[in-house]
Amino acid sequence: MTQLLEGLNPAQREAVEHVDGPLLILAGPGSGKTRVVTHRIAHLLSLGVPAWQILALTFTNKAAAEMRQRVERLAPGQRVWVSTFHRFGAKMLRQYADRVGLDPNYTIYDAGDARQTLKRVVESLKIPVMGYTPDRIAAAISKAKNRLIGPEEYKPRSGNPLSEIVAAVYPAYQQRLLASSAVDFDDLLLHIARLLHDDTELRKQLDERFRYVMVDEYQDTNRAQYVLLRALSVDYPNLAATGDPDQSIYGWRGADLNNILEFEQDYPGVKVVRLEQNYRSTPAILSVADTLIAHNKRRKPKSLFTENPDGLPVRLVTYADGDDEARSVAMAMEEAVKSGRRRWSDFAVFYRVNALSRTVERVFRKRQIPFQMVRGQEFYQRREIKDVLAYCQLMNNPKDDLAFERTVNSPPRGIGSKTVGRLADYAYRHGVSLLDAARDAPQVEGVTKRTAMLVGKFVALVDTLDAYAAGPAEEAVGAVLEHSGYRKHYGDSDSEEDLNRLANIEELLTDARQFDEAMAEEEDAEANLEAYLERTWLVNETDGWDDDTDKVTLMTLHAAKGLEFPVVFLLAVEDGILPHERSAADPTQLEEERRLAFVGITRAEQELQLSHALRRDYRGQRRIAIPSSFLMELPTGVMEVAQTAPTDELGLAPDELIGDWGDAPSEEVYRHEPAEPVAAPTPTATPTVGTAAALLGSGGLAAPRVSPDAFKVGMAVEHPELGVGKVLTLSGNGKGRRAAVVFPEHGEKRFVLAFSPLRPA
Ligand code: ATP
Ligand code: MG
Repeated sequence: MTQLLEGLNPAQREAVEHVDGPLLILAGPGSGKTRVVTHRIAHLLSLGVPAWQILALTFTNKAAAEMRQRVERLAPGQRVWVSTFHRFGAKMLRQYADRVGLDPNYTIYDAGDARQTLKRVVESLKIPVMGYTPDRIAAAISKAKNRLIGPEEYKPRSGNPLSEIVAAVYPAYQQRLLASSAVDFDDLLLHIARLLHDDTELRKQLDERFRYVMVDEYQDTNRAQYVLLRALSVDYPNLAATGDPDQSIYGWRGADLNNILEFEQDYPGVKVVRLEQNYRSTPAILSVADTLIAHNKRRKPKSLFTENPDGLPVRLVTYADGDDEARSVAMAMEEAVKSGRRRWSDFAVFYRVNALSRTVERVFRKRQIPFQMVRGQEFYQRREIKDVLAYCQLMNNPKDDLAFERTVNSPPRGIGSKTVGRLADYAYRHGVSLLDAARDAPQVEGVTKRTAMLVGKFVALVDTLDAYAAGPAEEAVGAVLEHSGYRKHYGDSDSEEDLNRLANIEELLTDARQFDEAMAEEEDAEANLEAYLERTWLVNETDGWDDDTDKVTLMTLHAAKGLEFPVVFLLAVEDGILPHERSAADPTQLEEERRLAFVGITRAEQELQLSHALRRDYRGQRRIAIPSSFLMELPTGVMEVAQTAPTDELGLAPDELIGDWGDAPSEEVYRHEPAEPVAAPTPTATPTVGTAAALLGSGGLAAPRVSPDAFKVGMAVEHPELGVGKVLTLSGNGKGRRAAVVFPEHGEKRFVLAFSPLRPA
């Protein structure tokens, strides 16, 4: 116990020792918030609170893993559920799948899969999208889901064509997901939050089970996460949240800063602990961070001090171009490592957008600087990997139509998209999955005997693979490689690319084996295909990052949250990059960009360098780069300004770069005009209100949903597309209530009522 409290300052100790009732730890970066969470878990355990009553939620797998390890170290042998919100949602959803109309073996679609599904839905609805890309529509749906607005509650805003399209597409999209027994990322939270909201019994039960809930980085919670946490903290309001409003950087993903700003109102009697000592950074780094963030209007000022030694001034460097920047950074690292002052792993390089890493990668590779790039999703995103995983998905969830589409002709087996289209028509008309439609191939209109035979072979392949569906991941992946024909397909090719793909696929086998082995070590973990798939679906950017190897870390500012490094280089602090050009016209977004810069700066322990270049190759163009307005907000006293570019190119003396510039418009100061036009975001076709109104009038899809209980067997019902039909059967309850309806012209169809546009006729 004393050991637990040692190494904590009085405020931290107060938070750690708090047991019952809501707790808010509001503090700046490096003040020990995350440390307090782990110690508090260990403290609760030491008081005899059973491990299963404690739930700790974070945003990334890496943060969760680290927290789990730290708790394990403080309280050996105790297994507390430390998870990301999404994983927690996924686990709960397996348990309560039927309540929301899913099978327990549901598939999680990533952004690409979700977009594909959306495209199909838009095509089948045949509504005019007026130039709105699937991405725009998907983003709008995602936003609604993050705000916990379900398809049945979504109301179009008049005069807003996008919202009118969404009102039509969203219910159909949701229904298509349910028909495939699939969810998108947002659903993981949406389904659970709504379930907890709607089902009081369940809410009570889970509130009691998870008596002590802890959340790190609360400032990044969205509405769905808020509701989830709220629901778990009514009878046992022992929610402990840590956060820093100045580090809220996920507004674009629906994070709501109000969640933390209003915590005190939401949880009356909350104990608020403020931590004011920073243990991470030098005074100079802190001062730069503080001065910058003070320019945000929407914030509560905080005081933060440090007793850390002075260290070096923060450097601000101007380079001629991106290459020069990358090379100089590399050389500074080489020099420090050679002289024995630093290890490679002491360094981190941050940038605002992934595209900026390319130059750094190239230069580092050339100079043989060991580095790791944090971009975890990539492996599972490769086409050949997605293909193999799609087989696994189909084995795990035969209703997964997208997985069927991906696999049916890959590797090529003579089944064209026309055939798939015919199968899809048949599936839609009969309310069955594509795989079931494929089983009926000989009866499907327009499918020739020969093609039906080919489809039959594919079905037989899926049935063969089915034997592996319940087993370990490695066997399942291995079976896919053997039986699907990929190994032969790629192995027989003499193209370099194909051999590469084969190597990647084999790497997936290794990945699956490692997963099985890791699971075997954990007591109650399941080593099966489903668990493996879940892991591949829920990878984060930072997953592949290994802090035990001696390599430089390259990552985006977003990925850097919560981490710390002795030396940080923040590149391309330039107008249009940081702050991002998206934020140009929006003060709220500009503040979020400033917070992002703040997060980057406060990762640094001992040394920090900010840099910008005069020219930058970005998005396929060479542009004149303008220093970020943020640089002008920095304090002069604690910084050292350097440049490698000739002064006359810069247009002003280096020490003019920082400090208060008053109201001088940047054009005057810089006397630079962009050499090439700065790429403006490509506008989508201008939608017209007239067509949107027509859309709403025609489909009636936007009409409010009818309660699932309003339907009776034998009742006449109306569907906006299929016309009037009759209810044949009803099954399930609540959100899971389904109906089979027969339409005179379209035959029998099945619906999940809560998500269908059906209405009593
Ligand atoms: P962020 O807002 O960036 O997530 P944080 O508030 O979560 O920061 P931590 O990561 O918990 O901060 O702590 C920052 C560093 O300070 C860590 O290396 C941690 O071990 C150290 N630290 C925290 N509290 C103390 C303490 N009382 N004594 C010594 N070191 C401490
Ligand atoms: Mg932290």
